[in-house]
Amino acid sequence: MVFGWAQIVMDIQPLLVLITGEGTLHGFSHTYVGASLLAVVSALSGKYLSEIGLYVLALNPERDVVIRWPVAFFSAFIGTLSHVLLDSIMHADVQPFLPVTTDNAFLQLITVDALHEFCLYSGLAGSAVFFAIHFWRRFNRCTTTDS
Ligand SMILES: [Zn+2]
Repeated sequence: MVFGWAQIVMDIQPLLVLITGEGTLHGFSHTYVGASLLAVVSALSGKYLSEIGLYVLALNPERDVVIRWPVAFFSAFIGTLSHVLLDSIMHADVQPFLPVTTDNAFLQLITVDALHEFCLYSGLAGSAVFFAIHFWRRFNRCTTTDS
């Protein structure tokens, strides 16, 4: 959930540019410096928003699930930094290494179709790992409580 929240936080700036027509579409937010700052913002806000979200969705009615800070920060940093990497491959205006250089060595590193396939397959692989762990834990919980 913090990873997903980080994606939303990252694209607030481009959304504001699209709405107002002012500024650079992928500006400071889509640099590694900006994304690192937004990772901190995403972790600090996302931990609590996610815990509230789990409660509201009735996935944590006892409020006993707590997202630990290392998990929140790791998820936020993976989310924002990978966002910059993926966007720098497909968007010509992304300058990921500002203020050091305006160069973007990742632009068109692979085709946009290949990038979309990579995202799709890594999402499927991540889902498979998630459900495998989920069912493995459930199976182990059943076998340990039954015996
Ligand atoms: Zn973006």
